[in-house]
Amino acid sequence: MEMELWYTEKQTPNVGITCKVKETLWRCQTDYQELAVLDTFQFGRILLLDGMVQATAADEFVYHEMIVHVPMCTHPAPKTVVVVGGGDGGTVREICKYPSVEKVILVEIDAQVVEAARKFFPEIACSLDDPRVEICYADGIEYIRSLDSFCDLIIVDSTEPVGPAIGLFDTPFYQSVFKALKEDGILVAQTESPFFNAELIRNVFSRVKSVFPSSYFYLASVPTYPSGLWSFTMGSKKYDPQKPEGTFIPQNTRYYWPGIHKSSLILPRFVQELLE
Ligand code: SAM
Repeated sequence: MEMELWYTEKQTPNVGITCKVKETLWRCQTDYQELAVLDTFQFGRILLLDGMVQATAADEFVYHEMIVHVPMCTHPAPKTVVVVGGGDGGTVREICKYPSVEKVILVEIDAQVVEAARKFFPEIACSLDDPRVEICYADGIEYIRSLDSFCDLIIVDSTEPVGPAIGLFDTPFYQSVFKALKEDGILVAQTESPFFNAELIRNVFSRVKSVFPSSYFYLASVPTYPSGLWSFTMGSKKYDPQKPEGTFIPQNTRYYWPGIHKSSLILPRFVQELLE
């Protein structure tokens, strides 16, 4: 009988997602986290950090399109964008689709995530060499603190709030983000699952709300993330995602389109209650 290899991510102490593995392609301890790349039958290649799924070949498009196009199409013509985290390059790939974009700064703490993405996920990392992109290996918290009225959009494409990412979910960070943004700037952050991370979402939403004049929340379906229902929190100084002002709408997408933009902001009752 042929031996089967299975990988489980324990998403909570009581729930896991398990995939049948073809091959372990890479495994190492970086200065910040344990990094692994698996090839699986169901989802293709998977990037894991500290045992948690960051991206899979099969469903990364949902997350990356939604963290980028909702804010990008809300703003009339974003030129300068800063991404905090996002070392796999998927967020940068989606930002680079916009002709208005002049500069993208990727602030990733762990260079080895970028190296692994370039080697094992060329279809995700494909825009990291775009001439508009600058990669800065630094802690996003310190980097953002150093900026003043600098950019149109800040996207926090971070790991779960553990280790170096903890501060990315706190009020002082959102205050620095506010200062780093231009007078009509937008913040978007990935904020985990409303089913499994209700308290985190409640806290983050009220922190963003206390710093920005307007805050919004939207959802997308990502099968390999805990519970499959993923959330994004937006803080905006001027523009309203419900009345997007973008003149450029990316056509080469698989999840995002203007109808999804609108529907992602319409929330189930239990999520509305979470945010109240
Ligand atoms: N899409 C993913 C998700 O929701 O699971 C996030 C992917 S991306 C690989 C997350 C990146 O954030 C990691 O590569 C990690 O090294 C980086 N990161 C964590 N804390 C950071 C910080 N304080 N500054 C910059 N990057 C950070």
